[in-house]
Amino acid sequence: MSRNQALFERAQLTIPGGVNSPVRAFRSVGGTPRFIERAQGPYFWDADDQRYIDYIGSWGPMILGHVHPEVLEAVQRVLGNGFSFGAPTEAEVEIAETICRLMPSIEQVRMVSSGTEATMSALRLARGFTARSRIVKFEGCYHGHADSLLVKAGSGLLTFGNPTSAGVPADIAKHTTVLEYNNIAALEEAFKAFGNEIASVIVEPVAGNMNLVRATPEFLAALRSLCSEYGAVLIFDEVMCGFRVALGGAQQVYGITPDLTCLGKVIGGGMPAAAFGGRRDIMAHLAPLGGVYQAGTLSGNPIAMAAGLKTLELIQAPGFYERLTTQTTRLVHGLVAAAREAKVPFAADSLGGMFGLYFTGKVPESFADVTKSDIARFNAFFHKMLDAGVYFAPSAYEAGFVSSTHDDAVIDATVAAAQRAFAALAA
Ligand SMILES: *Cc1c(COP(=O)(O)O)cnc(C)c1O
Repeated sequence: MSRNQALFERAQLTIPGGVNSPVRAFRSVGGTPRFIERAQGPYFWDADDQRYIDYIGSWGPMILGHVHPEVLEAVQRVLGNGFSFGAPTEAEVEIAETICRLMPSIEQVRMVSSGTEATMSALRLARGFTARSRIVKFEGCYHGHADSLLVKAGSGLLTFGNPTSAGVPADIAKHTTVLEYNNIAALEEAFKAFGNEIASVIVEPVAGNMNLVRATPEFLAALRSLCSEYGAVLIFDEVMCGFRVALGGAQQVYGITPDLTCLGKVIGGGMPAAAFGGRRDIMAHLAPLGGVYQAGTLSGNPIAMAAGLKTLELIQAPGFYERLTTQTTRLVHGLVAAAREAKVPFAADSLGGMFGLYFTGKVPESFADVTKSDIARFNAFFHKMLDAGVYFAPSAYEAGFVSSTHDDAVIDATVAAAQRAFAALAA
């Protein structure tokens, strides 16, 4: 038995499903999850010492590749000073100043430890600020696992949302309305029907949790103007796309200013750090200034701040995002060409260092489009690539990530493996 298999069997005895986050269990692709031992640059190695080119990058944070020497040094430098104090530190002021400078819509920001905490806190703040309860989200967008956000559409536009998870009370789900992504008509209809009840609209401006799906510029513009007209707080959940699609996030790419922004993943550089921030007048409602309570024992943890600050410094290097975009484009163009050669229906898209692979004829615009993917084919492709030493996301509903260490040789090796995989799929 392989060590991966042995570890997976052992893990299942004391950890539900053997993993600490469900997608890691390989349930949708089948097979044995790889237990990772170490990583370097664009690679990681599993418990059987197999090397993989890593295209998940811890689901986004590892934009500089694994164990970047300067980030490692920054972390090592603070380790001896103490792990956590429960009192403020200068590094927290520095990261707040950095975030506010890089994303000008953020006038004030609070650090938390996970993206889930960021969105949950931002929604409470929006509700406290507006003194309204209803929130609007979009099908296929993921905002962490807070109760109000694990909700899918009811049977009609004006019906209550339904929980997508056991344990979420219907009484909580009923305050969440779920609309179709990129559907402006549905959005207008919802605002017309109950716009004055909406505390907040939360959206992934570049969706990365139903595979990669871009918002259309018109959709985000409509969102912005309707929220302003009705006094609803517009929250951009940039936990994934922030500092990933561009230095200023999706809000820079689209030129749209949200009221609040949620960040995570890249801002921790692989350590547990996330944040929410935005308009000063809204942030002023947060404790200890205002009546909306929010707190965290490990918020702004000094080790996480050191990794995050160094990461945010290095991504500001001139040409960083141009190069990241070039490498990601090289990957998706290579994959599309390989699929075309083998006559396998396939499309791909990318923005900055984030990409989507679709086993369907065209790039999707909604969750319904994504579900038209040929899942069996994706799963076969995933395993062929894994066998060839390339680790893509183990689900057809996840985006992929390129780091600054994925150089031409790494990308070209990936494309060569994909040519063989697509040829085998077609055969
Ligand atoms: C990952 C993610 C979250 C949740 O972040 P966690 O740190 O996993 O809690 C929220 N929103 C988006 C868009 C994400 O990609």
